[in-house]
Amino acid sequence: MYRLLFVFFLSVLSWHSLAERVSHVEQQLDRHTQLPFLIPSEVMLQQWLQQLESQPDSASWYRAYSLLLLQQGITQVKGLEAKGELQALLERIDAQALSAQAEVYSALAELLLYHQHYSTALELVEPMQTMLSELQHPRLVYQFNHQIGRMLKANGQLEEALTYFLTAHLEITQLNDGQTEFRRQFLQLHMARIQSRLQNYRYSRQIASQALEVAYREGFQVLLAELHLIYGAAIHMLEGPTDEALAQYHLASKPVEGMMAGRTQMMALNNLGAVHLHRANYEQALGYLQHGVVIAGQLNNEREVHVMSFNIGYIQVLQGQTETGLRQMEQAYEAYKAKTTPVTQGIMLGHLADAYHAAGLYEQENAALRQHRRIREKVLEVERDRVYSELQVQFEAQEQGLRIQLLEQESLLRDERLATAHRENLWYSGLITLLLLGFIAAMLAMRHTRKLNSQLQELSKRDPLTQLYNRRALHDVKQQGGDLVLLLDVDHFKQINDQHGHDKGDTVLAELAQRLMNKVRKEDWVLRWGGEEFLLILRGVEADTAIESIQKVVAAVCDQPIAELDVSVSGGAVLLRDAEAMQQVLKQADLLLYRAKELGRKRILYQADHQDDPVEVSR
Ligand code: GH3
Ligand code: MG
Ligand code: MG
Repeated sequence: MYRLLFVFFLSVLSWHSLAERVSHVEQQLDRHTQLPFLIPSEVMLQQWLQQLESQPDSASWYRAYSLLLLQQGITQVKGLEAKGELQALLERIDAQALSAQAEVYSALAELLLYHQHYSTALELVEPMQTMLSELQHPRLVYQFNHQIGRMLKANGQLEEALTYFLTAHLEITQLNDGQTEFRRQFLQLHMARIQSRLQNYRYSRQIASQALEVAYREGFQVLLAELHLIYGAAIHMLEGPTDEALAQYHLASKPVEGMMAGRTQMMALNNLGAVHLHRANYEQALGYLQHGVVIAGQLNNEREVHVMSFNIGYIQVLQGQTETGLRQMEQAYEAYKAKTTPVTQGIMLGHLADAYHAAGLYEQENAALRQHRRIREKVLEVERDRVYSELQVQFEAQEQGLRIQLLEQESLLRDERLATAHRENLWYSGLITLLLLGFIAAMLAMRHTRKLNSQLQELSKRDPLTQLYNRRALHDVKQQGGDLVLLLDVDHFKQINDQHGHDKGDTVLAELAQRLMNKVRKEDWVLRWGGEEFLLILRGVEADTAIESIQKVVAAVCDQPIAELDVSVSGGAVLLRDAEAMQQVLKQADLLLYRAKELGRKRILYQADHQDDPVEVSR
């Protein structure tokens, strides 16, 4: 009887057309891909495979098939071997079928990211960037931006990664497929992680807390643990190992119902262990860490095994098993150090030094501390906050824009629903009016989106502190003969920050920018080039008046104290004879600026021509 029933179902199944079957499978797989922690069973995968076993006939088939391979690659069914099959699939696609290719690339990228095969994933970045410029489909554009962002992030190109995430974030507004909030969650997760990596814990906390709020409101389960982990880590870094941090880690350490314990739980257990270690609750710490090591082993995550073994070793030292503990710590540190950030290296060295101290090995302690200090210095040199905060402001503006748009969409939908309710009572002419109204509403929504996009684009070119254009706006500058390109850098600006505080530094930059703006004409450009560097492009300057122009600009900055401080600048200036390559000229200006600094600052070196010796302009 059962057998009969089964045969019967199979035959019903085959009545559906190929297109319908493909689209059904595609939808199912899409759901699973959107929820990367929801892994389909092998039986499901097998069924879908059967339904797809026919000749490819559309981008939709390629999408379904590559998503299937992706899912098989995520599960034990194929693991990373799915990579070879995806690549083989690529070869089968007609070179013209861009969408089909893009679908497979996207699955391939997802697979490599999932397995943390970053070096191989990086090879996809370039072809994907090239394809991106031709892709039309909003979902693919979104996916590509999202994935390229993740690959660059994995490669430590955090600023570039953020730019891609922002574009993906913007692209979400084009999708309107009911997954907006969910996709936003993913992007916010990545951004919160980047923040954390950049040690911008305040932003990280802010984004994670926003995302958590939405997750609970909308009932999104899958990212909860991860968000609690990031939120907890931000609190941990900002406020220390507080009860609140502990509570967050605890929430993160619970596997989502019905799913395997994964990376998030492992990290949470590691952090729980670290906090308890810090609080000298050694037994509890050991419990968490040993559990964590088991999960890390299951996940083949060597890195985390090292981290946790390191901590376990530390506990052993503290509990008197000096030799075993130290050996374990040293081994773990050696194995791990090349694979981590200087910050983590520093933290580990600090613990190692403590452990040597506890063991009475003062010479080793000293060596570890010296190394620790060298690393700290290196860390301090890395000035990343600024870049980030500019991108953060953009992100916030986008968020706000997106909120407004979502609200408007909702009210449009509401209106539409009301209209539908009335429709039954309407005569034919009324229906026409309604259609027209619908059309107008759609037009308005489209216009609104376009306007929003252009506003966001404009915003992304502005520097929030000084209101000047930033580096990105240089694309909009058409250089021409007679442009004077002047690169300025504030002298000893670090001292201003150090002696008077960062806020004062900010005030100086804002005021300086204002003075520069007041000095130049409407057709000139003033860009904030970087931290305390400004790029001016003055139009229509003659060789014999160039020096005068430079002096005027410098006088505007240096003649009067800025925020009660004497501020000077150094700079390099180059006159464009004809529309030369801007990059070349910028390099030259940078070189001149560097030499001006070497010559003792407070001066601009100016070159009218490549062959000429630079002229020194000072006040
Ligand atoms: P030099 O004369 O050689 O240019 O010395 P400097 O101290 O100006 O140069 P350095 O590049 O060592 O330091 C620049 C400092 O500017 C480092 C960074 O903290 C600070 N900075 C960059 N952007 C901002 C900002 O937006 N606000 C504030 N307050 N400081 C910033
Ligand atoms: Mg500088
Ligand atoms: Mg400077």
